[in-house]
Amino acid sequence: MNLEDILVDTLGITSEKAKTILKSRSTKKIVHKDLLILVFKREMLGYPEGTSIVHDTSTSVSRVIPGYPPIPRLLILEKIRDIFKEEVVVEEKINGYNVRVAAIGEKIVSLTRGGNICPYTHYKILKLYGEKLRKLFQDYPDLILCGEAIGMDNPYVRYEGYRNVSFDYIVFDMMQERKFLSIKKRDSIAVEYGLKIPRSYGFYKPEEFRRIIDLSVQLEEKGIEGFVIKSMDNEVRVKYTVTSTNIGDIREGMRFFFEEGRTYIFPRVLREIFRQYELIKNGYDFGEEVYVKLGKALLEPPIETVAKTEKGEMSDEDFTLVLDDLRILDEFLQYMEKQKIPIHVIGIYPTSGGEYRISCLKIRRTPLRIKSILDTGISPED
Ligand code: ATP
Ligand code: MG
Repeated sequence: MNLEDILVDTLGITSEKAKTILKSRSTKKIVHKDLLILVFKREMLGYPEGTSIVHDTSTSVSRVIPGYPPIPRLLILEKIRDIFKEEVVVEEKINGYNVRVAAIGEKIVSLTRGGNICPYTHYKILKLYGEKLRKLFQDYPDLILCGEAIGMDNPYVRYEGYRNVSFDYIVFDMMQERKFLSIKKRDSIAVEYGLKIPRSYGFYKPEEFRRIIDLSVQLEEKGIEGFVIKSMDNEVRVKYTVTSTNIGDIREGMRFFFEEGRTYIFPRVLREIFRQYELIKNGYDFGEEVYVKLGKALLEPPIETVAKTEKGEMSDEDFTLVLDDLRILDEFLQYMEKQKIPIHVIGIYPTSGGEYRISCLKIRRTPLRIKSILDTGISPED
């Protein structure tokens, strides 16, 4: 079967439409072992960005796995009064990276937000939850798990809130086609099949926004990114992040200020403007403390990067992976090469548990830009 027929079959569109989609620069083809995948690089035909049409060439089974839709960001908590009509659940916004897991016939696939299969993530999730997932998909073959991969040992996101976790997978939503299961249904399936779900901060009536403001203050200092507020039928949802995250992200992004720096700053400052505005209005005043934190976040890490670069110390980004099979490391390195993200392995150390800790570097562009400024003294910006 060719891709055109697969699209006609799975999406219920005409061959002409399928041809146009295949030619468009908004889709890309990926081959992963027996799987042929067409990824939507933007929203198309009502499907979100990251939607993957997956075809197993060994069994001829195909299906659409919709992308995980963006969650609107709330800047003013008081507004939940207007956004929600009935009781909401407030649950932890887990700071990791988004991974969907679904079955294609007998096979289980895991897809990143962009619709790719990251060999490391895939291997780790199946190693931890393979048995449970097989049972789950036997009973619910069409279910799509949407979850966060978390912990200290991964190539993408490390976060203080999960300092003592090496790797785990927390399921925050379940989809059937493009529809989310209700919170109750999600929880009961997760309990039945032994999957983890996010911590809940309880149920609130929309007019109880003041209690949610208090909750948001209690979450500061706990290393928790923020929360997602969902209606119980899971049809309406908004996300919210706390000051320590907004400023912490800027701090993190400014280490490589020619890369994340630019795109990180404005949206996060915007979040903080309205957060502080609302906190002050509700009797909290962090004043100077926040101003100083933000100023430090903007300047301290980049100055350190400049100093390290000048001394010739490495200032690329380091991360570790933990694997019991080094073939997966090769697959991962090839995968990153295809994404044009150069990775250097700097050491492989056996652990007492029979695994390997692999120390890696993600090569960054910022140090090069800094070197050129240190050489010439001239700014690339005005
Ligand atoms: P978006 O596409 O929604 O703008 P983003 O990729 O910029 O998102 P975030 O700002 O981290 O990501 O917020 C949304 C993401 O939060 C979701 O895609 C999901 O990966 C993650 N998440 C963590 N915890 C939850 C939760 N309890 N419910 C829903 N999503 C959650
Ligand atoms: Mg996130």
